[in-house]
Amino acid sequence: MSIRAFQQNFLSIRGAVGEEVRIIPMVKADAYGLGMAEAIGALEPLGPWGYGVAAVEEGIRIRALGISKPVLVLSPLPPGSYGEAVRGDLSVCVSDPVALRGLRDAAETAGHPGGFQLEVDTGMGRAGLPWNQVQSWVPAVTALMGEPLRWDGCYTHFHSADSPGDATATQWGRLQETLALLPPMPGHAILHACNSPGAMRHPEFAADAVRPGIFLYGGVAGAEIPPPVPVAALRARVTFIRDARRGDTVGYGATYAAEGTERWATVGIGYGDGLPRLLGNRGNALLKGRRVPVIGRISMDATVLNITGVDGVEVGDVATFFGRDGEGEISLEEVATLAQTINYEILTDLTPRAPRIWTADGGY
Ligand SMILES: *Cc1c(COP(=O)(O)O)cnc(C)c1O
Repeated sequence: MSIRAFQQNFLSIRGAVGEEVRIIPMVKADAYGLGMAEAIGALEPLGPWGYGVAAVEEGIRIRALGISKPVLVLSPLPPGSYGEAVRGDLSVCVSDPVALRGLRDAAETAGHPGGFQLEVDTGMGRAGLPWNQVQSWVPAVTALMGEPLRWDGCYTHFHSADSPGDATATQWGRLQETLALLPPMPGHAILHACNSPGAMRHPEFAADAVRPGIFLYGGVAGAEIPPPVPVAALRARVTFIRDARRGDTVGYGATYAAEGTERWATVGIGYGDGLPRLLGNRGNALLKGRRVPVIGRISMDATVLNITGVDGVEVGDVATFFGRDGEGEISLEEVATLAQTINYEILTDLTPRAPRIWTADGGY
């Protein structure tokens, strides 16, 4: 992981939205699989306003790192976790009056204010107070709002900011309509809506703060958006090399057979590290700067490459599954497409067995 690239992407977001807009990097799911502590360590010198997560436990981890700035939990909480959220001074998502009551009870018990962000559902449908049923919830929500609760902000989440089109503007309009029917927010509270593609494509909807995730981690955030600098590379060492004869087979199910005399290199990485099993007989790796195909099925701990015609490969050489090697490059997005998923999932599927190594340039 490249600290420099990660920081550059943060600065690109800042450049897109301007100095006045607060940046709340999303560090949920262990910073998209790349390591929360390291990610926060790299961001702190750049002055993010706060951090965003999806679960109370993740917020508590940030507090344990000694961070005292705002931490927002942007998914609804299971009942029973409000106490921990209040004790950790996390500003939690409120999606209905029940949540507000849970938070208020926890704040009373703790003798500490319960901070919250009111989420408005403008079309994402997974959380939030519905924009088109405001009358049904505003009275109950307003009645609950006073102390010990602390209204820290209001937000929505865009469902299609990664593609051009009108959907995002429609959602923004719905948020504005809802705000007009709410009591005014306190002075310290913030309005926010943009994820990575929202911030890059629609800085006019940046409001008080943006919540970038994937772009910071080097993932392309959508069509017609300037690409981020790649941050992560996935690499492992060649552990074994063999010469195969025509008809020799490799891997579970023997799904690949040598077409003639071939040279195969076994690499010490598999789906147990998060390398997608769908790359079996489809994916590629870089070795000595050359692109070589994955042959056979990917095992839990091993993947075999056909290195026929690539000179000088030795046990201990490093294979790159995404990232750069000499002239060769495999993008996160290429891997995601072959694995029938999105760049996000390639990163978050990396398992603890694959060490996350953060260096100034990431060796990328
Ligand atoms: C994950 C998340 C984001 C960040 O989205 P990206 O597409 O990774 O930029 C922003 N806001 C909320 C509420 C999220 O859950």
